[in-house]
Amino acid sequence: CGVFGVWGVPNAAALTALGLHALQHRGQEAAGIVSFDGESFHQHKALGLVGDVFGSQTVIEGLPGEAAIGHNRYGTTGGTHVRNVQPIYADYAFGGLAVAHNGNLTNAATLRQALVKRGCIFHSTMDTEVIVHLIAISLYDTAIDRLMDAAKQIKGAYSLITLTPDNGMMGMRDPLGVRPLVLGRMPGYEKKAGGWILASETCALDIIGADYVRDIEPGEIVVINGDGVTSLWPFGDVGRRFCIFEYIYFARPDSVLEGQSVYEVRTRIGGELARESGVEADIVVPVPDSGVPSAIGYAHESGLPYEMGIVRNHYVGRTFIQPTDQIRNLGVKMKHSANKAVLEGRRVILVDDSIVRGTTSRKIVDMVRAAGAKEVHMRITSPPTKHPCFYGIDTPSEKHLLAARHSLEEMREAINADSLAFISFDGLYRALGHQGRPVANHTNCDACFSGDYPISLVDKEGKLVQ
Ligand code: 5GP
Ligand code: SF4
Ligand code: MG
Repeated sequence: CGVFGVWGVPNAAALTALGLHALQHRGQEAAGIVSFDGESFHQHKALGLVGDVFGSQTVIEGLPGEAAIGHNRYGTTGGTHVRNVQPIYADYAFGGLAVAHNGNLTNAATLRQALVKRGCIFHSTMDTEVIVHLIAISLYDTAIDRLMDAAKQIKGAYSLITLTPDNGMMGMRDPLGVRPLVLGRMPGYEKKAGGWILASETCALDIIGADYVRDIEPGEIVVINGDGVTSLWPFGDVGRRFCIFEYIYFARPDSVLEGQSVYEVRTRIGGELARESGVEADIVVPVPDSGVPSAIGYAHESGLPYEMGIVRNHYVGRTFIQPTDQIRNLGVKMKHSANKAVLEGRRVILVDDSIVRGTTSRKIVDMVRAAGAKEVHMRITSPPTKHPCFYGIDTPSEKHLLAARHSLEEMREAINADSLAFISFDGLYRALGHQGRPVANHTNCDACFSGDYPISLVDKEGKLVQ
């Protein structure tokens, strides 16, 4: 999901709509904004793309105020339904509370069972609602203390933005900082209060001309109000495990996360791949858009020409994110087409970010062959995806993951390629500036590739998820 928040800027909702638009790649199922005008909260949420949900002036005018938070939904828990659209807004004993959440709680079902037993009534199937209930029933007095109280009970990956009348806007990253969250500021606010922005990625600061201030740190809560930005550290320092897949695929290439340009990491991964598993060929072709920067890096390192052998239709959302298999399969054909002029008679190196089920890859390889390619060599910029993500990226269960059940050779055969290679763990970490994958003191989450889950999977162990 994508989250975005504005504090202390006129027409905050209009800026939020723009920010969400820049974060559209993080979720296309639904979008929502809650604004606060100093007295009351206003909200608008609907299924669909940001441009469709917030394209009309009247909708934006219905969201007055200098504070607003917004959310793009990418369904991981809870189905595609309007009641599952964020931000969640609730009236409780202490006034209004709006919450937008990117990530996934690993003990949501366990907590929910306990909350339902205590009499809490849930309106949605989202894990985010668990956080709202925990804040509402907390015995502490201020929204800040209530949020800290809730934070100590939840487990998982969460980048949260909340909005309350008394405590302003709050932002928070989980103790290991698995999902991203950055702080920005509008120019011209240096000498006055306000101008603060929170966003999942820096590309959402760029779209509104905000300056990047810094990343919110793992385990940090920032409270943003008329006094500026105050940091709280409810967990102490427990390490950092930023999601490595944000670099490989999820984040936008023009974003800078944890001090690294996503684009540069991707081109370096391409270079590593070319060194590790070079092959004789005529051209390097990305599977757009996710394969583009790494294909550039691959071409550069190998000295082979980079060509647009596959053209992408931009008016279709990311195939993988559509909820059903049937739509996903349809989506692939709608999205990519082979460029015969480039492919005919050539030995082609295809560069893509991941193989999950293998269905997209198979279709693309077949399509490239049908356009006349002599050989197709698939190069993947992640290690094999062998395990599901429980921290906010929608990977299917193990039985649907091609790499969980098959050897490299079986996978090559399944996608009909002449050769297949994945980046090594060491190559991937070298692209991030390390010597190789750290043996101790891990720096990132790479659980979907390694099975090394840095945050306990409470619901799974209690058999509350399959
Ligand atoms: P497959 O070959 O497994 O059917 O599909 C893999 C493709 O899905 C890759 O090209 C990747 O870009 C795309 N994709 C889109 N969204 C996601 C996602 O959330 N996770 C993963 N692993 N791949 C995704
Ligand atoms: Fe990212 Fe994979 Fe970890 Fe999920 S399991 S947070 S996708 S690295
Ligand atoms: Mg792709």
